Amino acid sequence: MIKLSVPHLAGNEKKYVGEAVDSTWIVPLGPFVDEFEKRLEGYLGTGHVVALSAGTAAIHLGLVMAGVKAGDEVICQSLTFSASCNPIVYLGARPVLVDSEETTWNMSPQALEEAIIDRHRLTGHYPAAIVVVHLYGMPAMMDEIMAVANRYSIPVVEDAAEALGSEYMGQRCGAIGLYGALSFNGNKIITTSGGGALVCPDAEADKRVKFLSTQAREDRPYYYHTTIGYNYRLSNVSAAIGCAQIEELQQRVERRRAIHQLYADGLENILGVKVHCNPTSDFDSNYWLSTILFDPEIIRRTPDETRMFLLERGIETRLIWRPMHMQPVFADSPYYGRDCAQRIFENGLCLPSGSSLTDGEIVKVISAIKDALS
Ligand SMILES: *Cc1c(COP(=O)(O)O)cnc(C)c1O
Repeated sequence: MIKLSVPHLAGNEKKYVGEAVDSTWIVPLGPFVDEFEKRLEGYLGTGHVVALSAGTAAIHLGLVMAGVKAGDEVICQSLTFSASCNPIVYLGARPVLVDSEETTWNMSPQALEEAIIDRHRLTGHYPAAIVVVHLYGMPAMMDEIMAVANRYSIPVVEDAAEALGSEYMGQRCGAIGLYGALSFNGNKIITTSGGGALVCPDAEADKRVKFLSTQAREDRPYYYHTTIGYNYRLSNVSAAIGCAQIEELQQRVERRRAIHQLYADGLENILGVKVHCNPTSDFDSNYWLSTILFDPEIIRRTPDETRMFLLERGIETRLIWRPMHMQPVFADSPYYGRDCAQRIFENGLCLPSGSSLTDGEIVKVISAIKDALS
């Protein structure tokens, strides 16, 4: 079976986990957590990263830190995984969903501004925060999005769960917005078995996130609380795996980029199929997943029919995230934009992209796609 994306061990996982166990640091926190944070900070070129138990927890705390409260409205990209949006509801706030643009498939800056202006007109308030996603690793149009956000003084939380290693105008994704969330779930570009991190703007925010994520215990000899806390820190054992994984991160990114290039070259002559988005001098994706878009006027199989055809040949593919404004659970959320996200959902397909796949396996996928569509 050629899988979509599976964990790829780096080499030192066993050694570091063994050290963590031998030192009895198997409880939350410990030297590997500090080391993992230091390595992430070095990679991202920023001083303030807090390791957490999940990417979802990172988005949740990013919104808490951005000041989101019950009754607020928070803007979220509609074309994403539900974990981008759920933490808005955890806080008693209301998601306002925004369409994508066609180039990167991420939040449309025009639809964003339209939403901000209209919510202000209807409620008398500006949204409390913006969650922008770098879907499948592809950087969103951050210059335009940050310009809109700054015009209305709205903090931006970057959901960079899929985008560790992606770059935008010389910055790493996750370090562009006020806060940035990373995920180390099993299928992401690197994994800690389960985990995440929040990229913070300064030392004070970093300290506050560490405080909130460890049950908000005040510095006293007894337990004393002035605020609601969370149990969201990463364990030392997970961080040990993360320390091994990050040693291989740049190779993993380069391998996924090479896989994307193989698809781009191998599929370029198939009429009605477009491999999603080549890098430019302004940005580069980590190509966590390579994706293609079908022209339904030309292609005679739907993405789901193609998925089933490929599955019979032992190749796993996946449909695009179904937009949040098309999910029953968010049916009451306002939506701004047109049908870009919906069309990408209906016509797109994610291809096997794991960094452990061989060139031969990618060639096999390409020829199976050609068979499916000829
Ligand atoms: C994986 C993912 C998350 C959630 O990360 P977890 O570590 O699984 O909690 C959030 N947003 C996006 C876009 C993701 O792909």
